[in-house]
Amino acid sequence: MEMKFESILLPGIEAKRPLVIAGPCSAESEEQVMTTGKALAKQGVKIYRAGIWKPRTKPGGFEGVGVIGLPWLQRLKSETGMYTAVEVATKAHVDAALAFGVDILWIGARTCANPFAMQEIADALKGKDVPVLIKNPVNPDLELWIGGIERIYNAGIHRIGAIHRGFSSYDKKIYRNLPQWHIPIELRRRFPDICLICDPSHIGGKRELIAPLSQQAMDLGFDGLIIESHCDPDNAWSDAKQQITPETLQIILNTLVVRDQKVSTESLSSLRNQIDEIDDEILEIFAKRMRVSREIAAYKKEHDMQVLQTGRYDEILTKRSQEGKEMGLDEEFVKTVFEAIHSESVRQQVEFINRK
Ligand code: PEP
Ligand code: MN
Repeated sequence: MEMKFESILLPGIEAKRPLVIAGPCSAESEEQVMTTGKALAKQGVKIYRAGIWKPRTKPGGFEGVGVIGLPWLQRLKSETGMYTAVEVATKAHVDAALAFGVDILWIGARTCANPFAMQEIADALKGKDVPVLIKNPVNPDLELWIGGIERIYNAGIHRIGAIHRGFSSYDKKIYRNLPQWHIPIELRRRFPDICLICDPSHIGGKRELIAPLSQQAMDLGFDGLIIESHCDPDNAWSDAKQQITPETLQIILNTLVVRDQKVSTESLSSLRNQIDEIDDEILEIFAKRMRVSREIAAYKKEHDMQVLQTGRYDEILTKRSQEGKEMGLDEEFVKTVFEAIHSESVRQQVEFINRK
């Protein structure tokens, strides 16, 4: 479907990269909202994010303060002139947020993965005029992301932005949510006028990754950043590990190098990014394989079997080099790689079996 997006920039916001949205993962108290917001406003941040309703993985955790938090945002807005942004996941959220004058709505990754929820939000937005930012779904499915965007667009909302917040994976190693930059880049290729925002907080899941991920997003031509910032990150009620103080945010933003370039899918940096992503995946797969090897070691130990089963070793080497060849890989290369993997796996098993 063809879509023509309009700018999400609100009056008084410069069209300058990066567009910065910052604020706590969750609104916790009026004081926390005000203290964090005022510090951010002082540093020139114009859009304040805060979760009011929190989609938590398991029940029983902090699920957001709910509607009582909306007047706090209203107060912040009137005292600082900042715009406010809130996550919505249901019709009731949309109605409440708009009733309290929230300026920008965003839709979270779990919600974007659910077409029923996206349609409910779209229906609630009919006849309304508010910019909506749509996070990628938790799973790396571009069509599902576009489908969600289309539902909101069809409701008459044309000020739409897309947020890359990474994708969920079983093995959380380096990133909390694996970035797959080629997915938002493909979205931009298909819809050149869509505003692309990166969420380094939810991709990285830790403070140290915010700066490099933000830089990467700038290098890839993203328009904006949504970053979690809290006046007292260590004591945040949600996502404490990834939140940074407004002062740290300022330092990160000041050290960003923003080159004025348009994203090109052919660009060297995009290719290098793909290589980095693939290398991360290779490392995660190695780690997974070694874990399974140790489980095998536990089994062998229990059944008093020897570690090295030569038949199995030959099978792995022959089968893999043959398969590799069929995939256009050099047979010797594949053999070398699998010899190294196998020998490390044997070493780990021997170590496991001889443990205590
Ligand atoms: C959030 O922005 O606080 C949030 C819950 O994000 P996501 O939907 O990306 O998990
Ligand atoms: Mn969060």
